[in-house]
Amino acid sequence: MSSRRARRHIYAFGGGRTDGRADMKELLGGKGANLAEMSRLGLPVPPGFTISTEVCTHYYAHGRSYPPALRAQVKESLARVEQIVGRRFGDPKNPLLVSVRSGARASMPGMMDTILNLGLNDRTVQGLIEQSGNPRFAYDSYRRFVQMYGDVVLGLKPEHKDEEDPFEVALEEKKRTRGVTQDTELDADALRELVEEFKALVRMRRGVDFPEEPTEQLWGAIGAVFGSWMNQRAITYREIYRIPASWGTAVNVQAMVFGNLGDDCATGVAFTRDVSNGEPGLTGEYLPNAQGEDVVAGIRTPLQITRAAARAWAERNDMPEAERREARPSLEERMPTVYRELLRHAERLERHYRDVQDVEFTIERSRLWMLQTRVAKRTGIAAVRIAHDLAKEKRINRRTAVLRVEPEQLDQWLHPAFAPGGERTLLARGLGASPGAAVGSVVFSADAAIQAAAGGKRVLLVRIETSPEDIGGMKAAQGFLTARGGMTSHAAIVARQMGKPCVAGCGALVIDYARQQMSVTRSGGDPTTIAAGVPLSIDGATGEVFKGEVPLGAPPASRPEFGRFMAWADEARRLRVRANADRPEEARLARSLGAEGIGLCRTEHMFFEGDRIDAVREMLLADDLEGRERALAKILPMQRQDFVGILREMRGLPVTIRLLDPPLHEFLPHGDAELGELAKKLLVPVARLREKRDALHEANPMLGHRGCRLGITYPEIYRMQVEAIIQAACELARERVKVLPEIMIPLAGTAAELRILREDVEQTARAVMEQASVKVPFTVGTMIEVPRAAITAGEIAEVADFFSFGTNDLTQMALGLSRDDAGRFLPEYLRRGIFAEDPFVVIDQAGVGELMRQAVTAGRRKRRALKLGICGEHGGEPESVRFCHQLGLDYVSCSPYRVPIARLAAAQAALGT
Ligand code: ADP
Ligand code: MG
Ligand code: MG
Repeated sequence: MSSRRARRHIYAFGGGRTDGRADMKELLGGKGANLAEMSRLGLPVPPGFTISTEVCTHYYAHGRSYPPALRAQVKESLARVEQIVGRRFGDPKNPLLVSVRSGARASMPGMMDTILNLGLNDRTVQGLIEQSGNPRFAYDSYRRFVQMYGDVVLGLKPEHKDEEDPFEVALEEKKRTRGVTQDTELDADALRELVEEFKALVRMRRGVDFPEEPTEQLWGAIGAVFGSWMNQRAITYREIYRIPASWGTAVNVQAMVFGNLGDDCATGVAFTRDVSNGEPGLTGEYLPNAQGEDVVAGIRTPLQITRAAARAWAERNDMPEAERREARPSLEERMPTVYRELLRHAERLERHYRDVQDVEFTIERSRLWMLQTRVAKRTGIAAVRIAHDLAKEKRINRRTAVLRVEPEQLDQWLHPAFAPGGERTLLARGLGASPGAAVGSVVFSADAAIQAAAGGKRVLLVRIETSPEDIGGMKAAQGFLTARGGMTSHAAIVARQMGKPCVAGCGALVIDYARQQMSVTRSGGDPTTIAAGVPLSIDGATGEVFKGEVPLGAPPASRPEFGRFMAWADEARRLRVRANADRPEEARLARSLGAEGIGLCRTEHMFFEGDRIDAVREMLLADDLEGRERALAKILPMQRQDFVGILREMRGLPVTIRLLDPPLHEFLPHGDAELGELAKKLLVPVARLREKRDALHEANPMLGHRGCRLGITYPEIYRMQVEAIIQAACELARERVKVLPEIMIPLAGTAAELRILREDVEQTARAVMEQASVKVPFTVGTMIEVPRAAITAGEIAEVADFFSFGTNDLTQMALGLSRDDAGRFLPEYLRRGIFAEDPFVVIDQAGVGELMRQAVTAGRRKRRALKLGICGEHGGEPESVRFCHQLGLDYVSCSPYRVPIARLAAAQAALGT
């Protein structure tokens, strides 16, 4: 037994030996696997090693302890790194410093903290001074280390949301007493004092001494990375993005390289294409003489990597070119050789991974080091553009292109930007960090955003900068506006990922959290004060911030690349996609978005509009059939016009019209005041109205007198509707407009109901056609929304030409769950995993889905040509669309704006992912 080799916990990279590969993400996490891959490709990567995710799993399975063999393996691996770089960990003369970096399988930007410069203490800092000949650099690195370690490992953080970071407060205070504004202006002496002050802060607030021993520091950091896997913000992030807790994180320990050694040093982030709009060409930002997260943290506003982008920046900010070259040189201008090398590596990586990369790099004394690469997050706009362009460039095939875009991401192509030429007052200008237009009232904290959004308000989250703690509030907000930070700041990254508009780095804002207000100064003007609750509009493409609510205009979907991309998706899919639309203008919109028919045209809306409701009420109040028919005769021509409009708009595409569904009491007002008013209008006594209201009252209206039950008890209502439909069809047929109405009977639970109603429909239709001397095609089918209908689908198919699954009601009835009341407990059910998903959003495949499967099988067995579709809300939800594809339905139907999403989801389902 003893001869068995200990399990391998560690994988080395860099310096000539690399154990890992890009396809080992499960074991090494994304960061570790890609560091390994970059080393394999021969790119300059500082050497290091990855502690595998299995160790994380072990850690949590064994009361937060490590596998016994780990210690020796860490020691051995560290020795290898020491040998490669020729420095020793803890050596007071020539110390090796390392970073300790977390890295899960799926990238979780900003969720876990990295510790830089580990290995520094009062002795090794002397060695660093000697080695670099630069005391300022050494103490800058040291104070950063104490700050990061104090925060991440020793837990010295702000204690409530309005408190500023205590380390930052001390840093600000130091700058103030030294009379400087930038971190870079603090000298070695000031930084040395800061190190002591930081350590004292730790001792005072956390009651521990800062560890001096490098090995102790290292193990503290490793423990903190594993520990952070279960911190609240990581858990929240995993919930939002559905990352299983069981995956665990890896830990990367890597030799430090320094971007803060002087003016020939820098650190930066680059994208191989523009991740905001998808345009080709390297983009990104850098900071000279800086380290690590400075670019992302938004502490200094970073510079552009390319000259073109730097010029565009200057233009936006009214900076003359001469001044720009001096104050804001691009990397391309400042270090042309390094820039070209970066460009080469970036192109190589994009070609290698066949997708846009997000690359982190550091330049130490004009030498480029690659510190990370990963597939770049992108906006929905960029996702389509990039997939399209990569396919055109023959880097990927069309199938891959179609699979590269999340269906939900298409949303950004469909939603309006600000209307051109609309009235607007510019308040300030920042960076356009994530495109799209957002309008909302200002809130200054994530909690306020969550609260306001829960109350149905649209809000803009305004922060000096955002941090991972804000993620819940960011989810709730329409968009984000920050005073600090660049294109790669936390706010910008999260915005692009969530597909929300963001304006970052808007330096004109002075935000005062304590007073819940901000002031904005435009050059030459007086400051404007904006309090919480005031509406603003932001344009995440241009970076503009406007006062008030700017009206919205046309969406970008008309661009040719969108059309081509969607055409590729259409080639791949089998499912047809229809829209739910009740009005001609909705039908037109749906067609423009690619709908191939209407899957649900609800007729109740037609009863509510204008003065029709009066005729409907007259019908309700009538005592006898004759009275009801008289009232219905008034509604008939209006209904006919509606149907003419919709059928004409759809020109021969199928239009499924559902006969009246809601319980009749919905047409009467409920309050006494409204009843009084109505009585006056209709010239009937209030008492009679009240009596009628009470007579129609139901204890449980959703299971009450509605749907085809109305058709059975008041056949004249459905007759009138059928007359209107067939008359409309005849009218259009005479004009040689093709029509294909499908008459749908709601809420049937038995074949017997349908048999009666179908006969009625056919009789009425025949009569209308005879009278008009025109023949039009039509079919009669039913919604499957009562579980009994699904179970007896074979019998029902004998009298139905089509089934349309009404999965909203079917879900309510199959689960015995009222959609209107479920809010009281459903969140708890979701949180505790009783339901994996909200069954009103994603089809409950095991329950509702099984009913559907039975109905499909039995229905088709009885009637081979039975047409099958879905018209519930689920018809536009990608996971449910995939399920409908697998069930073999003919079509899904959803709201017009979700039609492209369903088209793409259907294509991806057909492509088998
Ligand atoms: P995140 O997961 O938040 O991106 P990283 O582990 O990538 O965190 O670390 C953040 C930044 O710290 C990197 O982009 C890089 O600039 C810097 N960094 C990490 N490791 C090193 C290192 N060994 N040498 C120099 N800088 C490093
Ligand atoms: Mg980080
Ligand atoms: Mg990183």
